[in-house]
Amino acid sequence: MSVVSHVLKARWALLLVACGPTPAPTPAPTATPTATPTANADPVAPEPPPPPVRKDGTIYAEAYQMGTRFSINLWVGEQSPAAAGVAIEAALAEIERIEQIMSEWRPSSELSQLNNAAGQASRLLSPELFEVLQRSKMICDATDGAFDPTFYGVGQLWHFEPGAVPPTREAVAAKLSLVDWRAIELDPNTLRGRLARPGMKVGLGAIAKGYGVDRASQVLKEHGFMHHIVEGGGDTYVSGTKAGAPWRVGIQRPDGPGSIAAIPASDRAIVTSGGYQRFIEVDGKRYAHIIDPRTGWPLDESSSAQSITVLADDATDADAYATAVAVMGPEKGLAYVEAHPPLEAVIVTRSGEVLVSRDLAPLLIWPSDAPPVGDAAAKQPAAPAPDPAATPFSPR
Ligand code: ADP
Ligand code: MG
Repeated sequence: MSVVSHVLKARWALLLVACGPTPAPTPAPTATPTATPTANADPVAPEPPPPPVRKDGTIYAEAYQMGTRFSINLWVGEQSPAAAGVAIEAALAEIERIEQIMSEWRPSSELSQLNNAAGQASRLLSPELFEVLQRSKMICDATDGAFDPTFYGVGQLWHFEPGAVPPTREAVAAKLSLVDWRAIELDPNTLRGRLARPGMKVGLGAIAKGYGVDRASQVLKEHGFMHHIVEGGGDTYVSGTKAGAPWRVGIQRPDGPGSIAAIPASDRAIVTSGGYQRFIEVDGKRYAHIIDPRTGWPLDESSSAQSITVLADDATDADAYATAVAVMGPEKGLAYVEAHPPLEAVIVTRSGEVLVSRDLAPLLIWPSDAPPVGDAAAKQPAAPAPDPAATPFSPR
């Protein structure tokens, strides 16, 4: 159900309550709320209360979307909390809209329709799907195919949960020819696109969440709220400042709660990928849920990073590059990031070593008394105290 319809229903319920007790059970309304006599009968029905503003001048909201928890932390300043509530509702509705377009799991999504039409004639795409596919292709090219959303042609054979059965090597080999980002054909003049090979499939799990974060931030800005953080499942975009000072974003520890270090940030994306609960065991080895597009096999957990944090100008890029760096592996991934400004990275290796890209290192704020990450005798320290946040505003 979309946020918008949910919100309308919530307001509708309020209107009914405002009219006083009804003698008989009221049938569910079939028309839109404003078209019903009940709604018209009470022109002064109360609006939902504005979200609470915390002591530091921010409003905090969270909602479960795209299979993960999203949060918005917005600095209200002199603006109206009620207007901020409206902006937050709109931003969350935008994430829902993006999910409806880009989820490869929802059979009705535009992406599923594109996947189902692989090998057939081109289709007119929404500007959003076109943009994400176009940016995906640029990042595929830039990372020499380490990031490649056509991984899904073979990726759909894999299931990452305890007890899952791996596909046979033959099955993987048979689908590997479907993995090739060059076969995503896009025409910028007509906004039409197609997947050129029958059976090929695109999965946007490594980029759509970042795009959703960016879109939500854009909607907040369009409502006049320039200062905020939008976060969804480890993908963060930081806009403006908090009362004039840069926001601080903690880099989540891969092995538990708290942060490795904090990054002061403004108008920048910080995306952390890893700390995976989702894996599959094959012959006693664990594999994480990122697929190496060259082999069709997931990454061997023992040689991949525990977590990868990538900074970029927006969350769409940071999300996709974090996955590319995972495929490259810690050393090559760090070298890649250092050669490609404005990317920056913090990589926690399997042994707990914390690798930081050259230009980012001086900006990090390390807490003084941290336990080591994983089993390493790391010199890096613990979490800044969690923000003593008030009860989140739950718009849904
Ligand atoms: P998470 O968001 O879970 O921390 P990522 O952002 O790295 O992790 O995204 C992982 C998801 O990306 C996978 O679940 C899958 O949908 C997709 N994916 C896996 N391998 C690739 C790849 N090589 N290129 C692009 N997308 C991938
Ligand atoms: Mg990603």
